[in-house]
Amino acid sequence: MKNEKISKNCDVFIYNELKEYTTNIFLIEKKSKIFLIDTFCGSESMIPIKKILADKYNSKEVIVINTHFHWDHVWGNSSFKKNIIISHKLCREILNEHWEEQFKKNENYILGSVEKSLPNLTFKGSINFPDEGIEIFYSPGHTVDSISIFDYDEKILYVGDNLEKPIIYVEHKDIDTYIQTLNAYLGYKFTKIMAGHTLNLTEKDIYETIKYLNDLKNGNKFEFESKYMRKIHQQNYRFIHK
Ligand SMILES: [Zn+2]
Repeated sequence: MKNEKISKNCDVFIYNELKEYTTNIFLIEKKSKIFLIDTFCGSESMIPIKKILADKYNSKEVIVINTHFHWDHVWGNSSFKKNIIISHKLCREILNEHWEEQFKKNENYILGSVEKSLPNLTFKGSINFPDEGIEIFYSPGHTVDSISIFDYDEKILYVGDNLEKPIIYVEHKDIDTYIQTLNAYLGYKFTKIMAGHTLNLTEKDIYETIKYLNDLKNGNKFEFESKYMRKIHQQNYRFIHK
């Protein structure tokens, strides 16, 4: 795990334990609260985060956010049992229903221990912390329950897995809604975009992803730069057109 500063108030923790991609956890320091975006793969992966929170941010309330239900974003939740854990309403419902199944399928990736631990504060449209300059809003795309976070002070948009390089994973069939979400991102006056598996994305990446989604929907032919991209694209294609 690597720790870097991405802005005055935000640290990213980059985990390399998963084979094909790195995974990012973000810790944003605000006036009276700390926001932790996603919890990676289990108790052990959260030990360094817990230590920083205890050593450095002892006096501030920690709010955990789950960007969506995928296991690599929620398995560390049980390290934050006493905290508020925010997600979309659907995220909690899907997790509640599929926790065991996700657990069994991806057991190999558990770091430390994983206990079923659901988000305990859910919303449908958006949730705001005006004193902290934080807005959390529904942004269906990669999955039906995906949410995003905008930091009004630093102008950073955190998009979960809705954007990813070199290629996105599509796990929700409603491509038009995905495109709508990406268009809505353009309305935020961001200077940087951070994603669950990719750092420092730009407006250009939004436009390219919209183009990819349109092409995917219409079954257009693609040229890919790598075997990995071809593989994920084929997965996306099968998922959308089955
Ligand atoms: Zn995901």
